[in-house]
Amino acid sequence: MVAKRKPLGKCPHCEAMVQAIVIEENNLRRDVCVCPECSGKILVCRTPGCKDYALVGENYDDELCPDCMASVRDAAKTVVGTAALAAIPILVGKALSSDD
Ligand SMILES: [Zn+2]
Ligand SMILES: [Zn+2]
Repeated sequence: MVAKRKPLGKCPHCEAMVQAIVIEENNLRRDVCVCPECSGKILVCRTPGCKDYALVGENYDDELCPDCMASVRDAAKTVVGTAALAAIPILVGKALSSDD
């Protein structure tokens, strides 16, 4: 039987560009693959268009590859920062209008 291969992407373990070998085909969750370079277990990244691989954890699997995780973290930080700045005038306004 010829092993199924995934498209070329970056392994999160060894950072080599590899075509992961499918070791466990799944319908509901993602196929479990193994890196041909370091034999680490990997999954395809959930980001549309991203061909890199995510780590397989003991209790949970990473949804995204390390690069996509980093960009999601940065985006979250920006959103939180903007929300915090937007909240300041509201808080100040409340403090000023409470004349009792
Ligand atoms: Zn690897
Ligand atoms: Zn990705």
